[in-house]
Amino acid sequence: MPSPPPFPGRLESRLPGVGTTIFTVMSRLAAECGALNLSQGYPDFSAPPELYDLVLKHMRAGSNQYAPMAGVAPLRAAIAAKVERLYGTRYDPEHEITVTAGGTQAIFTAVACLVRPGDEVIVLEPAYDSYAPAIELSGGTPVRVPLAFPGYRPDWAAVRARVGPRTRMILVNTPHNPSGTCWGPADLEALAAVVRGTGIVVGADEVYEHVLFDGRRHQSCAGHPELASRSFVMSSFGKTYHVTGWKVGYVLAPRALTAEFRKAHQFVVFTVNTPVQLALAGWMADESRYLELGAFYQRKRDLFRAGLAATRLEPLPCEGTYFQLASYARVSDEPDTVLAERLTRELGVASIPLSPFYAEPRQDRVLRFCFAKGEETLQRACERLARL
Ligand code: GLN
Repeated sequence: MPSPPPFPGRLESRLPGVGTTIFTVMSRLAAECGALNLSQGYPDFSAPPELYDLVLKHMRAGSNQYAPMAGVAPLRAAIAAKVERLYGTRYDPEHEITVTAGGTQAIFTAVACLVRPGDEVIVLEPAYDSYAPAIELSGGTPVRVPLAFPGYRPDWAAVRARVGPRTRMILVNTPHNPSGTCWGPADLEALAAVVRGTGIVVGADEVYEHVLFDGRRHQSCAGHPELASRSFVMSSFGKTYHVTGWKVGYVLAPRALTAEFRKAHQFVVFTVNTPVQLALAGWMADESRYLELGAFYQRKRDLFRAGLAATRLEPLPCEGTYFQLASYARVSDEPDTVLAERLTRELGVASIPLSPFYAEPRQDRVLRFCFAKGEETLQRACERLARL
């Protein structure tokens, strides 16, 4: 069969600097090399089979057509109840909660429904790789404020210094991917002070809201009344229930913001997978399933860090998320992308280099490892890394 002939015109890319995401690149390489895949962030273990049974139950019961545009009512009610219990704010499921096709779509749509050509959006760097393309496709300009290595703490004076008449939005993320740092209450206060008296909207990526360690409490923009009044708060069921491939998340926002969000949402995905939403609604009823997640991942973090102690890599602090950063300054001068590829090919351990989380390539000599993996996989990975 002939292939389709090439595009006959001159293609001007809307995203000239963008290639394939590093997560796809490294997972593909890991598969090619048969390496242990500690790169892309997803669990290599199953959710309890009862959750899968619930999906099938709803399919067999006939819930297979379009869900309401904003999400099925029982799921929005369950989200409202959880958020009220944990953060003390009551979002109205009818007008203030929207179910999305995962966190990435929530972020994209929140940006696209607000940002106009010429607007600026502040992002803290290293930043999750979808933020800047979402801003650029909307005609906006990302304004990057560094989270300085090795602490990765927000410098709120630096954020304030970058706020100007064109600032439309600030995108924040706690617990933070890739650094694993978590905000304290002072960070919410500082962000509130930065945006006070402006029309700036906050986009809060909180997809790891249940993965915090050592007794830390998640600082949600939903729990800070002043911030809640101007925030899209985004979360993800994939991270919480070990089903990243189901691509279901949600966004909380006050009524006027939600109305704008839904204007775009209905034309991006219209609505999200019905039986999965219904299953998640039932599954959420047992709070322990998300309340125990921090302890569950803390054991894996500790195991992985203990294993890294026998290597020449130096783990950085990890307060939340399922990512562990490690410095390779003692090991090599190679650029992080080169080392990550070499470790995958030669040692059989795939990780994520940090430079793709920055606009300008920089070399702090840090790799990110995902420890949402079985204990044996983590142990074997450390044994291999010890050869470094
Ligand atoms: N959030 C995941 C990570 O940080 C990746 C998701 C994706 O591949 N887009 O690894």
